[in-house]
Amino acid sequence: MSTLELYTPTDLNDALRFLEHDGGNSAVIASGTDLLPRMRRRQISPSILVDISAFTEDLRFIRRSDGTIRLGALTTVTDLLESPMFYGRLSMVREAARLFGAPQVRNVATVGGNVCSAASSEDLIPVLMALDAKLKLASARGERTVPLKDFIIGKRQTTMKPSEILVEVSFNEPEGNSWTAYEKLGRRNMLILAMVNEALILSLEDDLQTIHSARLALNRVSGKIPALAVETSDFLEGKRVTDQTIVQAQKVMESELSLTSDFRGSGEYRTEVAQVYLRRLVERCARHIGGSS
Ligand SMILES: Cc1cc2nc3c(=O)[nH]c(=O)nc-3n(C[C@H](O)[C@H](O)[C@H](O)COP(=O)(O)OP(=O)(O)OC[C@H]3O[C@@H](n4cnc5c(N)ncnc54)[C@H](O)[C@@H]3O)c2cc1C
Repeated sequence: MSTLELYTPTDLNDALRFLEHDGGNSAVIASGTDLLPRMRRRQISPSILVDISAFTEDLRFIRRSDGTIRLGALTTVTDLLESPMFYGRLSMVREAARLFGAPQVRNVATVGGNVCSAASSEDLIPVLMALDAKLKLASARGERTVPLKDFIIGKRQTTMKPSEILVEVSFNEPEGNSWTAYEKLGRRNMLILAMVNEALILSLEDDLQTIHSARLALNRVSGKIPALAVETSDFLEGKRVTDQTIVQAQKVMESELSLTSDFRGSGEYRTEVAQVYLRRLVERCARHIGGSS
């Protein structure tokens, strides 16, 4: 029978030194809401868990400075929900947090764990991708920053090395005529693992009718990998917000997506929902920017 050890580092540097030598056999554990069920299902079997959950002083924060928002990796979903930062232009962060799991899960589930799980049903990944978030990864050798859009390279696969710990997620605050919105569909109203989830940041020109820029992100854009819907986003840019634009964008989206079927829903159904959500997201953002709601 294989054994499982728990390493409780004294601080972040101790954890990084430990991973530098033993990273290959270890898994970092934050709150374990993703990791432990996977271990129970024998999808992964690390021999050592490196517990970083005590480093809240260093890794649990929500900070804003010079137009940048920084989230510590141990920030919980409840922290996002309770922060005054995520009203107004950044309300999609709050929407995603509100639709996340149930209170017991939200109270412990971390931003870092969500991103590093790199799963195709996570709520925060498309939201952070639409915001063009950057990840700060630390190791005993130093730090590096990678864009989230380049971090996830396959189903539950990232570019993170076994010796690294995600310490911070940051993104620029949207400015001017911008708004953000999020939509999620699951099979019930609570504890919903997303069948489709979709996040948009939209900016309009000063005429409040022409789209200046759009960044749309979904889980499963291609197979089971969360990603930006680049073609659909590009199509929207420079177009006026009209019914015709949205119908055309939905067609672009249909050809861009390759949503797969599983026990939660068929690929065809997912594609239809994603198209409906595209309309809702564009209209919701445009309405807010225009100040009509
Ligand atoms: C009942 C239930 C409901 C759920 N509902 C939702 C939901 O609605 N939406 C949703 O998105 N998810 C949901 N989840 C999944 C899970 O709660 C989230 O993915 C959560 O954000 C994971 O955070 P965690 O702190 O528990 O991560 P952990 O389980 O501790 O870690 C997850 C993965 O990330 C790695 N990791 C964690 N932190 C770091 C770090 N700082 N640096 C490097 N690697 C790290 C771990 O090694 C592991 O591979 C649910 C889970 C359960 C059990």
